Amino acid sequence: MKNVLITGASRGIGAECARLFAEKGYNVLINYNRSEEAAEGLCRELTDRGLSAVCIKADVSDPAQVRDMFARINEHCPGIDILINNAGIAQTKLFTDITDQDWDRMIAVNLSSVFYCCREALRHMINAKWGRIINISSMWGQVGGSCEVHYSAAKAGIIGLTKALAMEEGLSGITVNCIAPGVIKTDMLSCYSEDDLNALREETPVGKLGTPEDIAKAALFFADEGASFITGQVIGVNGGFVV
Ligand code: NAP
Repeated sequence: MKNVLITGASRGIGAECARLFAEKGYNVLINYNRSEEAAEGLCRELTDRGLSAVCIKADVSDPAQVRDMFARINEHCPGIDILINNAGIAQTKLFTDITDQDWDRMIAVNLSSVFYCCREALRHMINAKWGRIINISSMWGQVGGSCEVHYSAAKAGIIGLTKALAMEEGLSGITVNCIAPGVIKTDMLSCYSEDDLNALREETPVGKLGTPEDIAKAALFFADEGASFITGQVIGVNGGFVV
């Protein structure tokens, strides 16, 4: 049974990835930071159905906590076969209002966490000569989002990291790919009014907002054995918003 670690899996896209991967027979490690109750509820939901899941707490923006999380993981299993770097935060602010703290937090949670988790996960993957790394960026990382410059910069950084790491790990049997979601209905959209959401829906060529399931299905595709010739790619799951 392959082990998949999903960062930020207590809610939203990460939680749906956990459900889908568990249903497909993977052992799912549900990372969370603040939402302990939600993470434990999800874990119970899966194990009550006879599926394989455990919860693991860590603030992935902190390299010491990431190291400790992997040490705890290694007590239970040889290592992570599939890493989904999903944890993220969003903030809408005029560029000129972004503080040093806002910037540092955004980069730490959304980009440095990917570096820390890849570094730890790769130790086992390189030995095993097999691995899948799936990074969750954003369409704003591809084209830039107004009033989300720090978010866009972090998400663009994930795309650069994905492409470069894919080149470095190609001969080790490890693929590194990236999903760039469009507007997906999760808590992350709670700052938008109903009118804003309707405007975004109208701007999306397929005429609807995305769901966490849409992203989970793309992640499952990249994780598959059959996707071994696909690496360094960015797939937009955005209803045609960015082409
Ligand atoms: P969400 O519902 O707000 O969930 C965010 C998740 O990230 C939560 O599980 C949260 O865990 C976790 N997280 C945040 N900071 C963390 C930290 N320091 N350490 C560990 N976990 C942390 O957001 P979502 O919409 O599912 O977003 C998931 C990913 O998709 C993010 O990277 C986001 O940028 C990206 N994305 C989303 C959209 C969208 O429209 N929703 C579009 C493009 C890209 P706790 O609650 O336990 O702290």
